[in-house]
Amino acid sequence: MSLPPLVEPAAELTVDEVRRYSRHLIIPDVGMAGQKRLKNAKVLCVGAGGLGSPALMYLAAAGVGTLGIIDFDVVDESNLQRQIIHGQSDVGRPKAESAAATVREINPLVDVIIHNTALTTENVMEIFSGYDLIVDGTDNFATRYMVNDAAVLLGKPYVWGSIYRFDGQASVFWAEHGPCYRCLYPEPPPPGMVPSCAEGGVLGVLCASIGSIQVNEAIKLLAGIGDPLVGRLMIYDALEMKYRDVKVRKDPECVLCGKNPTVTELLEDYEAFCGTISDEAAEAASGSTITAQELKAMQDSGEDIFLIDVREQNEYEIVSIPGATLIPKGEFLNGSALEKLPQDKRIVLHCKSGARSAEALAIVKNAGFSDAVHVGGGVLSWVKTVDPSLPSY
Ligand SMILES: [Zn+2]
Repeated sequence: MSLPPLVEPAAELTVDEVRRYSRHLIIPDVGMAGQKRLKNAKVLCVGAGGLGSPALMYLAAAGVGTLGIIDFDVVDESNLQRQIIHGQSDVGRPKAESAAATVREINPLVDVIIHNTALTTENVMEIFSGYDLIVDGTDNFATRYMVNDAAVLLGKPYVWGSIYRFDGQASVFWAEHGPCYRCLYPEPPPPGMVPSCAEGGVLGVLCASIGSIQVNEAIKLLAGIGDPLVGRLMIYDALEMKYRDVKVRKDPECVLCGKNPTVTELLEDYEAFCGTISDEAAEAASGSTITAQELKAMQDSGEDIFLIDVREQNEYEIVSIPGATLIPKGEFLNGSALEKLPQDKRIVLHCKSGARSAEALAIVKNAGFSDAVHVGGGVLSWVKTVDPSLPSY
């Protein structure tokens, strides 16, 4: 399926531009007309992280005339393993600004628009409406559904990608010509079922594999060439080194882009829609959450506690709280952890950020350990507030 170009061509290319883009201009499918379309194009990249890094760099190099960058975060040392748009000297700097500086260095002819803010239900419609195409490089389900809903409601296409460990996926969602993200994933996964890259890790170079697919599709859509990834899901396995694509059909019953849509405006709260933790976990954690400093005080006062780290072995090896015993969350889910728990000590659970330990806490409390607690903010909070000499990840 070929689709008409997304943007009209710019009036002309300057001599500098002809020199710069000559390797594009001599490809018959791109040519002068295609390059002029890229020059006229306005593309927004949501997130200047793993996927946003290669996406922004190649979009800039390709000559996309206007590039928007939205990110609220600052560059952290743990980003540099994969977020190659940022460098060592950018640590602590807002990602949107750091990314914009790299884009300008790659191609000073690009107009960069910096949105140094979080994408929210209040600003997403206004921000998106200034662009022809969105490239979604977000890493959480709440933002993904919001990006999808806003794009469909505005009638705009977007290029989606996701990465985890050695696995990546990409597609183009454009409700006018094919399915949307909700046609593929009508419901967000149950909280705690799909770990984030922060929990499970990601191979750095995987970002380039998927980010470059996103740029490839963006250029095709803008210039109206080739067979875009509309209605197809590209699945990449870096360990097997295999790409395969599967057909994704538009769901006539889709609540957003189907025949009788029930979602006709943005949801009020995407975090609640995706549920960062399950209802059971939230209930268990309510009134049974301690801070990392409170844990430290319990340890210092010699209180008889049994501290359990519910993360995975390799996370435990990176950094762990002194005195913690490792029992991964899976052992709580299958029940085998319960026989390891002492009856005469107070159970204290922790994980990286407090989400997994809240899930485990619900199971432990259900098993009768009514005074069990978990550490809000987990190891990250311990490193931040108790022992900053430890590494964060
Ligand atoms: Zn849909």
